[in-house]
Amino acid sequence: RTVYLNGEYLPEHEAKVSIFDRAFLMADGVYEVTSVLGGKLIDFPGHAARLDRSLTELGMRNPVSTDELLEIHRELVRANDLDEGLIYLQITRGAPGDRDFVFPDPETTEPTIVLFTQSKPGLADSPSAKKGLHVISIADERWGRRDIKTVQLLYPSMGKMMAKKAGADDAWMVQDGFVTEGTSNNAYFIKGNRIVTRPRSYDILHGITRAAVLRFAAEAQMEVEERPFTVDEAKQADEAFITSASAFVTPVVRIDDTPVGDGTPGPKALRLREIYLEESLKAAI
Ligand code: PMP
Repeated sequence: RTVYLNGEYLPEHEAKVSIFDRAFLMADGVYEVTSVLGGKLIDFPGHAARLDRSLTELGMRNPVSTDELLEIHRELVRANDLDEGLIYLQITRGAPGDRDFVFPDPETTEPTIVLFTQSKPGLADSPSAKKGLHVISIADERWGRRDIKTVQLLYPSMGKMMAKKAGADDAWMVQDGFVTEGTSNNAYFIKGNRIVTRPRSYDILHGITRAAVLRFAAEAQMEVEERPFTVDEAKQADEAFITSASAFVTPVVRIDDTPVGDGTPGPKALRLREIYLEESLKAAI
C-alpha cells in the first residue's frame, strides 16, 4: 500500500512517526474517514469542513489546504487502485521532542498528517445492511466533547468488544437515560413517518452521513424530529438504524434482547439507504 505522511507518498513500511508524537502519548489528534465508491469520494466537502472544525476546537493548525487534501485523497485512490473502501486521515499536534502536558508552540512544532486507504469490496452492497444489526445498550463513559473527532477511541473500542462478547454487532451508548449514539455511528428510530434522532451538541459526533440523511428525509416522504430518546422507545419503534461514512444507512433489527418491528431490516431504513447511496454517488468527486 502507498500511504501519505507529511508531504510524502511512501510504501506503508517506510512511513514512520516519532515516539514523541502527541497522538501516541496523549491521543492529541483528530481524524476523518471518507468512503470511496467507484473510485470517487463520498461527502468529501463535509469531511473536510468537520476536520477544520475539530482542529479549530483544539487550537491545532491544518498543515494542508482543502484543495491539497482533495488532491492527496485522489492520489491515494489512484496509487492504490482503490475502487471501493475507505480513506483514513489523521492530523496530530505533532512531535515536540519531549513529553509535556502543555501544548507545544504551533510555530515550531509541525502537525503530523497521515492518510492511508483501506480496500473494502462490497461496502455499498453490504451483507450487514441486508441482515440488519443487533446492538446492545451500554453506559456512555466517554469524555464530554464528542463533537470533536479525536483519536481517543478506547471506550468506543471497549464498547465494540462488549458487543462482540454479547454476540451482538455493536453498542448504543446511554447517558442520563437517553441514547447518545453508536460506538462509531449515529443512532435513530422510525415511528410512523417520523425519524427520531438526538440533536447535535457536545454529546455526539455531528455525523456527515447524519446531515445528509436528514437532508434526504423529505425525499423519502419522512419527517425528522431531533430530540433525545430512550432505549425503550427505540425498542418499541417500527424501525431503527445507524449512519456513518462506512456503514451509510444500516438497519438495526434487535436492541438488547428485543426485536425492533418484525426483527428484519425495515423498508423505510432501506429506502433511506438507497436514497443516500444514489444522491451521494451523484455528488461524489
Ligand atoms: N458517531 C461516532 C461516535 C462516530 O465515530 C462516527 C463515525 N466516525 C459517527 C457518529 C458517524 O459520523 P460520519 O457519518 O461522519 O461517519
